[in-house]
Amino acid sequence: MTDKKFSAASLAAQAMGWIDPVTKAVVPPIHMASTYLRDEDNGYSSGRIYARADNPTFDQAEATLAALEGGAKALVFSSGMSAATACFLALAPGDHVVVPKVMYWSLRNWLANFATHWGLKVEFVDADRTDAIAAAVRPGATKLVWIETPANPTWSVTDIAAAADIAHRAGALLGVDSTVATPVLTRPIEFGADIVMHSATKYLNGHSDIIAGALVGARDDPHWAKLRTIRAQLGTILGQTEAWLLMRGMRTLFPRVDWACRSAQSLAERLAAHPMVTEVLYPGLPSFAGHAVSLKQMTGGFGGMLSVRIKGGERAAIATAARVALWKRATSLGGVESLIEHRASIEGPGTPCPPDLLRLSVGVEDSGDLFDDLDQALRRADNA
Ligand SMILES: *Cc1c(COP(=O)(O)O)cnc(C)c1O
Repeated sequence: MTDKKFSAASLAAQAMGWIDPVTKAVVPPIHMASTYLRDEDNGYSSGRIYARADNPTFDQAEATLAALEGGAKALVFSSGMSAATACFLALAPGDHVVVPKVMYWSLRNWLANFATHWGLKVEFVDADRTDAIAAAVRPGATKLVWIETPANPTWSVTDIAAAADIAHRAGALLGVDSTVATPVLTRPIEFGADIVMHSATKYLNGHSDIIAGALVGARDDPHWAKLRTIRAQLGTILGQTEAWLLMRGMRTLFPRVDWACRSAQSLAERLAAHPMVTEVLYPGLPSFAGHAVSLKQMTGGFGGMLSVRIKGGERAAIATAARVALWKRATSLGGVESLIEHRASIEGPGTPCPPDLLRLSVGVEDSGDLFDDLDQALRRADNA
């Protein structure tokens, strides 16, 4: 199966069409070995030495992800955080980086605390404004521009092609956290990104049963080799069972994301007309600030994530989340079960998240059921 002949959806469904050469199994084994036999001539003809560097169980997931993103190579990591932080640890103390104000909160904390103490000069910008990114880059000093689009938890959108252009003119790389868009909807490398990062915990796995991360590199170059070395030295590799579960989940990535997009679009439109909702934040709504840019860089839908702002503020938002039955009150996103979260109380002080906001991760349940459940919760919260 070559990626020239078949579409990305077909490649994902069959995990690149891999068949075990010996047993003809259509599903790969899980390789448990931590070490590999050395040849009599002292070499390692298998190319494998020790499993802190890699594991054959990663191969399919990494090859599939590289194909889906249109990249040269992929690496799976122990978490989205270890994948993202590797991109910053590949820089040197003193380097300048430009990152968004609105982004995954745990990475924002790591950048504001660990990365700055380690010596990176970290500049937070309104990344939905291209001119703010352009004003922040320092030619020669900026080594990485990092964006997340759509960005947690307001789904603000960054123009990837414009950010890539600004980064490259300054001599920097562009890294994109594309967890929410998934390769089904956006392929950042086509718009000039150098590195694509995923929390594979989310849509790529899709079943809320592993923690995993991934990077995809546009080029197999010395910078990519550095990222591979960081993973091997820090040991931030994915467990072999998790790698197997990731590949199993990725086979249904396209139908899951397609279903979630259609439900999220319908929910966004219906909730926008709800008397208890003051604002719906969703890239698929024409009224949303990032809609025009989303049309340029998202195809097939606008994602399964949306946020709603509730009339009655924080109290009403928390009361609504308390009264759902089908939606599950939990953090995380991108699984088959729909999740609802009062995000400001998770992010804590300094969050850019409004206190009246509920974050919704739309799964693959019936979208009418999802709307009805939210509707009764919103109405009961109003009377509480
Ligand atoms: C969850 C998430 C992360 C962190 O990934 P983990 O797998 O939890 O380490 C990073 N970015 C985004 C957008 C996320 O949703």
